[in-house]
Amino acid sequence: MLFDTHTHLDSSNFNEDRDQVIARAVEQGVTRMVNIGFNRETIPTTMALAEKYDFIYAAVGWHPVDAITMKPEDIDWIAKLTEHEKVVAIGEIGLDYHWDTSPKDVQHRVFREQIGLARELKMPIIIHNREAHEDVIRILREEKAHEVGGIMHSFSGSWETAKMCLDMGFYLSFGGPVTFKNAKQPKEVLVKVPNDRLLVETDSPYLTPHPFRGKRNESAYVRLVAEVAAELKGMEFEEFCRMTTQNAMTCFDIA
Ligand SMILES: [Zn+2]
Repeated sequence: MLFDTHTHLDSSNFNEDRDQVIARAVEQGVTRMVNIGFNRETIPTTMALAEKYDFIYAAVGWHPVDAITMKPEDIDWIAKLTEHEKVVAIGEIGLDYHWDTSPKDVQHRVFREQIGLARELKMPIIIHNREAHEDVIRILREEKAHEVGGIMHSFSGSWETAKMCLDMGFYLSFGGPVTFKNAKQPKEVLVKVPNDRLLVETDSPYLTPHPFRGKRNESAYVRLVAEVAAELKGMEFEEFCRMTTQNAMTCFDIA
């Protein structure tokens, strides 16, 4: 019983074999997944997947890399989609200072608007944070994100940053990088995260875990993440899966 809390199975990387990829995940015990729609193209394809498979849920939001493309009507579109019973979160939203596609001020505005929308709708948010720890924390605080909480996706920060996110009521989700031999910091942070705030994910098709690093990632591999994480936590694999799945259900308010 595993819950992949962050996947992009609608990606064109899966056009040849999407149904087999999903079947493999189920074979590996992945009983639920949240697919992330993050711009004009991927929101409709995410909704289509969530409608086709009863165990695939959807998150909808506007990615910081695409912030420059968001029009005023898009926020209304996202708001309308959250009425769909399979939409469980707003995301992924946040800041990305690695790619130079959207200016910082535009990223900040789009991020703030979507936190505001989530508070209005009382929905959790899924945070993308790349090389922007300080500004992400500052904006989450200024926009009172603790009122809704959510997930720090593919968490890569220090324990210092982790504590600030935990204090705001966020869950920390770990993916492929935690399986890499040289990943000292993510492993140390994962061990310290309280058991009831820990999640696992793949971010397929990206961030492929060991031993498939460099190849296409898929949701079945969340099992590889969970195996490493369970060992770091000193827990039985089954118990770890039950615990993180329960955390995800609570976070997304899935019965
Ligand atoms: Zn993602």
